[in-house]
Order: sequence, then C-alpha cells, then structure tokens
Amino acid sequence: MRRTLIPDLVLDANGARDDIGVTIEAGRIQEVGPATEGERLRAKALAPGFLNNHSHAFQRALRGAVERIEPSHPNDDFWTWRERMYALARGLDPDSIREVSRRCYEEMLSAGYTSVTEFHYVHHRPDGTPYQDPNALAKSVALAAEDAGIRLLLLPVAYARGGLPRFRDPSVLAFLQRVDDLRKWSEWRPLVEVGVAAHSVRAVPQGWLEEIGDYARREGLSLHIHADEQGREIEECLSEHGVRPVELLAQTRSLGPHTTVVHATHADGQELDLLAEHGTSVCACPTTEGNLGDGFLPAAEILGRGIRLSVGSDSHVRIDPFEELREIETNARRLSGRRNVLVAEDETSPTPYLLRAGWGRVGIEPGDPADLVEIDLSHPALADVAAENLPSVLVFGSGSGVVVGTSVDGRNVYAPDETGG
Ligand SMILES: [Zn+2]
Repeated sequence: MRRTLIPDLVLDANGARDDIGVTIEAGRIQEVGPATEGERLRAKALAPGFLNNHSHAFQRALRGAVERIEPSHPNDDFWTWRERMYALARGLDPDSIREVSRRCYEEMLSAGYTSVTEFHYVHHRPDGTPYQDPNALAKSVALAAEDAGIRLLLLPVAYARGGLPRFRDPSVLAFLQRVDDLRKWSEWRPLVEVGVAAHSVRAVPQGWLEEIGDYARREGLSLHIHADEQGREIEECLSEHGVRPVELLAQTRSLGPHTTVVHATHADGQELDLLAEHGTSVCACPTTEGNLGDGFLPAAEILGRGIRLSVGSDSHVRIDPFEELREIETNARRLSGRRNVLVAEDETSPTPYLLRAGWGRVGIEPGDPADLVEIDLSHPALADVAAENLPSVLVFGSGSGVVVGTSVDGRNVYAPDETGG
C-alpha cells in the first residue's frame, strides 16, 4: 500500500521543513518532497527512527535492583555489578529471555528506537551443555524482536574463557558453525539480520580473534567487540599480549569499516589513530558507562579523527536515545570546561553531529527503510520552540516522552493509548 504522510514538520539533522510529504510503499521511503494530498499528522513532526547499536536485553531486569551497596562489597564497582548480572544470567531459559527481551524492545520502540543491535552471549544451558537446538536462546531473542516489531541486528557473541559456562563455546569452529546455522535460519525473517561478535580481549584469545575477524570480512558481516571499557581490562591485555586492546584487534585482523568497537572509554591516542586508519566505528553507551562508573569516552578526539559514532543503551538502566546523545555532549563540556564542543567541521552546533550518530543517517531520504518516529509538537517540553531550534531541543531539552508514534518497515509498532500510556 502506498501512502503519503504530511506532518507539520519533517526533521533532519540540520533543521525542520514544513509542507513536506513522506511517501511510503513496501516498507521503504519512496519520496520526500512538497505535498498537499495525504494523511495529515497534526501537531506532529516526523523524524528518522533511532538506532540502538548496543544492547544486552536481559539486563533490563536489573534496573533499580543494583542501586544499593551489598554489605559484602562496600566498594561497589563494575566488577561487583557484574556478579549481580551473572546471577541474573544463570537463571535465564528460552521462555524467560524471550519475555524480558520483548519488554525491553517494546520500551525501545516507545522511546523512538526502531532498530537494535543485540550483543547476545547467553547461549547454552546453565551447566554449559548445548540446548537441543544450540541456537535456542539466540532464536528466542530474535522472536522477541519480531513480537515487538523492532528491526534487529543479532550478534552471537564468541566467549572462550571466564564468565559463566553457558556463555562459552568449546572451540571457535563450533562457535562459527552456530553462527552459520543462525544465519540460515534468519534468511527469511525480514526484520532480522545476523552479524558476529567477540566479547572482549579478556574473554576471547588471539587465535579466536583472528578466525572471527577473517570470517566477518569474508562473509561481509558486521563485527562488534567490547574494548577499553575498564582500566583492569587494559592492564590484563598489556600483561598477556604486551599491547593495548585496540592494538591487539589491529594485529588480529579484527578492525575494518565493518567493525564497531563498543565503549572505547579508555582508548589512548594511538588506539584512536588505529580506529580512524581502519575506518572502524565506536559505539558509546553513556548512560550505562555512567551508571557503572566506567568513565567517559574521548568524544572530542573521536570527532577530531573522523571516527564514526553510534550509541547504545547497553544495560538498559535507561532507554532514551535523546539522553544518550545529550550525555555525550554534556560530558564533553564537563571535561573541557567549554560549550558546544562536539561541532563537526563546517558546522556551528553539536546537534547535527549527535543526531547523525543517533539515527545512523542524516534525515528521511528516499530508498531508506520506513523506520520513523512521530514527535508530539504539543508536548510541554516543546511548547514555544521555534521550528529551526527543534532538533537542538530534542537533544538538549527533552526526552523520550515526546515520542508519540513509531513505525518500523512502514508498519506502526508503537502508539500511546488514550490515557497517555
Ligand atoms: Zn556490552
């Protein structure tokens, strides 16, 4: 079915236009241009949907439950948080992971995310033996995404050592066989794409990294890996390999334009140079990194080197793309003592750079998937805002509460009910 939506405003990273129609057919944007005939979206603006590029959906179940000190661990930090997360991961089964993931994805849709990259590492039974279908839990996550209606990039994650038995595969070949099987299973699922991931340089040895890096390149798959999140991880990498995590990734053929390094919180200048040289992108997860006390990524240096940036809600302490973007600039201001820090060349505001990072695109363009968000222009946070300032108000002065409609693949998958729910 072909239809044309005419909102009050169509947003892109640089501003807002009125009297513009967005024509959708077969799940894609067909045309964007002046229009008078179509479905009016009154008091609404239309914007691209946000990409949530790093998620562990099951961790949403920790929300609120980990915000107090355990008497046995008076100095709470990332590593004590991780024990609580492991306790949660021990109890998951194919039904419960589907349920918690569906809730998480529904919340994402309500907040304006239209696609999610799921970094999935709970693979096997609690004792480490495979389920009858070794991809049972990964498929549960994919089905949860389909239940909710969100677009999914599913990344089965290689885990060789540490963690829980159920995270680990016996060999890299066994792992890649599972990835192959999952790719075949997902072939006819339009919202599901499969990539590949290695958990981190602490969980995956050098030989595995090489095999996985070669596999991703050969098969043209997205490859994601956590790196430089914690100081201890860097110390351990230096003592095992004599190099820092991103240097090890370069040595093991794991970097390239298809690779995303998640966090890069403590990446040094040389590591950032390597990321830039290989066209590798960085995914920042500021609300989680703040909640876990990780630190803050070197955003100004990332921008300065032209490294592509995306955001993720990671542990889901908060699911709000506007807040993730705001945190990046606000932290850069706190660190530098300046304002308007993350301003790209030939621009005067951080807003377009941040929105491009959040959307993974510049605006609503013909040929793109019809993954769209409706913004409520009558929301109190947006009252009296001039159209040209609307993109900046989204980043700096509002939150996910302004989202009143989300569609994925041209299909409406979120609209609040009449009571405002
Ligand atoms: Zn993560």
